[in-house]
Amino acid sequence: MMKIVKTNILNPISPEKSEFLKDIFISIEKSRIVSISKEIKKIEFEDYSGCICIPGLIDTHVHLSQFNVMGKHSTNLLPWLNDQIFAEEFKSEDENYAGGVAEKFFKASINAGTTTSVIYTAPFKKACDIAFETAKEYGVRAIIGKTMMDCNSPDFLLEDTETSFAESVELFEKWNKSTPLLEYIFSPRFAPVCSSKLMQRVGEFARKNNAFIQTHLSENTDEINLVKGLFSECKSYTEVYQKHDLLGDKTILGHAIHLSDSEIKMIKETN
Ligand SMILES: [Zn+2]
Repeated sequence: MMKIVKTNILNPISPEKSEFLKDIFISIEKSRIVSISKEIKKIEFEDYSGCICIPGLIDTHVHLSQFNVMGKHSTNLLPWLNDQIFAEEFKSEDENYAGGVAEKFFKASINAGTTTSVIYTAPFKKACDIAFETAKEYGVRAIIGKTMMDCNSPDFLLEDTETSFAESVELFEKWNKSTPLLEYIFSPRFAPVCSSKLMQRVGEFARKNNAFIQTHLSENTDEINLVKGLFSECKSYTEVYQKHDLLGDKTILGHAIHLSDSEIKMIKETN
């Protein structure tokens, strides 16, 4: 059955240009927009004249399993992970808890107008599986990955290198392009908690299989110093990822705040 909505449309055409269309009728059939027009013959329509219709928003970096501690802070990135985040992510080892968080996350995303998200889940295969199942049920576009961390991590989150990699491949094979809206993204958390071996294996696999990768880069100066100490053979934080073949046109780097010119150049050249 055809549904008609009267509203105003804000249509972004390019980074410099957008158009505003006032009092427009949008005709929707089987969940798809079939036409937009200034006039309609039908008299029955839902009136949203006081609203503005925009394309769905896209969130390129979000941690689903941290939903329940949103806004909790600490002095700095590394203490914040230890004080607030790791313990919360551990709760998603429980499937019921992981299911509850996923429901809340996608409901809140849709209510905020976000229809596409690039997501990290807690480092548990089942929690990632549940996130995909929930995204599918809600009909959103989602690129989801299980966080990987195989060193320098609390015992309750620490993964064995082989298991971390094998489970991610399993999830990739099960979910990547399983529907037109779902894709998998390999998600080594960040260099301080990932071994060279793990990063290398992810890089090789992703390159071979044209898979997405996401990780964090240069969010905070203490984190940068930590990386310098752990990977003293590399001249910069970005070089750590380059050496492990993690940079490319399907890599999403979170934060990337304190970068040198040579690091920016390196990212540009690999993207
Ligand atoms: Zn993040």
